[in-house]
Amino acid sequence: MSADLRGPRGRGTRRGIMLILSSPSGTGKTTLAHRLIDQNPDLVWSVSATTRPPRKGETDGEDYFFLSDADFQAKVEAGEFFEHAEVFGRRYGTLKAPVEDALSMGRDVIFDIDWQGAKLLTEQAPRDVVRVFLLPPSLKLLKDRLVRRGQDSEDVINSRMNQAKAEIEHWSEYDYVVINDEFSRALEELAAILRAERLKRMRHPWLTDFVEALLEE
Ligand code: 5GP
Repeated sequence: MSADLRGPRGRGTRRGIMLILSSPSGTGKTTLAHRLIDQNPDLVWSVSATTRPPRKGETDGEDYFFLSDADFQAKVEAGEFFEHAEVFGRRYGTLKAPVEDALSMGRDVIFDIDWQGAKLLTEQAPRDVVRVFLLPPSLKLLKDRLVRRGQDSEDVINSRMNQAKAEIEHWSEYDYVVINDEFSRALEELAAILRAERLKRMRHPWLTDFVEALLEE
């Protein structure tokens, strides 16, 4: 058994966590998620599939699996997705295989998916899902970030702002809400959520035997 399959102090196996991070685009979610992964070698990124074209600097297989409409549809029909949804008129989905591989290796998986995906994943794995909604401190700041990112046209930015408002309306469907007003604090809060969730009793089935043995001492 690899060390990362073990619970606190190396005792017993732990159930993997499916950590969902949703937010409107431009909230700093990707940067936060990558920093959290840097700090936690047992946490892996779920690479989604999408039919949208790659943005500048994005790599196929790292940021997304970029698929044609036909390839995406074929995978839907083959039952290869955990969940899939349409966002901004493009299709996005979480493939089962890489997630199951990571969870079976005792890793926790972080998902950057929208509220629809969060709902579908929660239905499928209610015990393993932890949902975090990331809020920008203001909508003005969100728009500034999208403009600065320079990856989208003005029309796309306006439509993303409308979409952002619609996404934010789902905030109360999440277990935790983090406001990204200060990067280091938001990162600390995310790390605290992950740590506390990893320690939850139900994720440590070995505790039953441990306590039984303790009481028989
Ligand atoms: P973007 O095009 O900016 O990378 O992502 C647009 C939106 O799609 C974001 O809100 C993101 O969370 C969502 N998204 C990305 N991957 C998935 C996925 O696999 N499933 C679902 N449901 N949403 C996704």
